[in-house]
Amino acid sequence: MEPAGTCEPTVTLFNATRGKYEQVCMVLRSPEEWKSVLPPDVYHVTREKGTEPPFSSRLLRCHDNGLYRCACCGTDLFSSDAKFDSGTGWPSFREPVDRGNILFSKDTSLGMTRTEVLCARCGAHLGHVFSDGPAPGGTRYCINGLALSFTPSGRQEGR
Ligand SMILES: [Zn+2]
Repeated sequence: MEPAGTCEPTVTLFNATRGKYEQVCMVLRSPEEWKSVLPPDVYHVTREKGTEPPFSSRLLRCHDNGLYRCACCGTDLFSSDAKFDSGTGWPSFREPVDRGNILFSKDTSLGMTRTEVLCARCGAHLGHVFSDGPAPGGTRYCINGLALSFTPSGRQEGR
């Protein structure tokens, strides 16, 4: 990560690996720039608010310990500890690693009122959040696998 002070604007994010908050540069790029660095399917989901087909993500079956990061900018978003099988066909999480690492936006597309979830550092569309998740929080983050990049923990039991 580029240290803060060399760029504007910055954002304070939780670094789940180091277990602390860090001020980092926001990642702001034009659609053309994103298009040149992202695979077409990732570009469509993250920068054009697309939705991957249900049950298409290989991350659905990922039960390894690790961190799910933004596919565009690498920001820590979700821990494997918060992942659960919702049966919806999209990777689902109870909570982000930190509320400050994501942004919420009201989404009224498709004739529904939903809450869109975005990466706080680069504005990538990640998915939506719903209130029908497992107890006790009752929150379900329904996230496109294409918007995530999985980093396994250093040590994994049984491997
Ligand atoms: Zn991002």
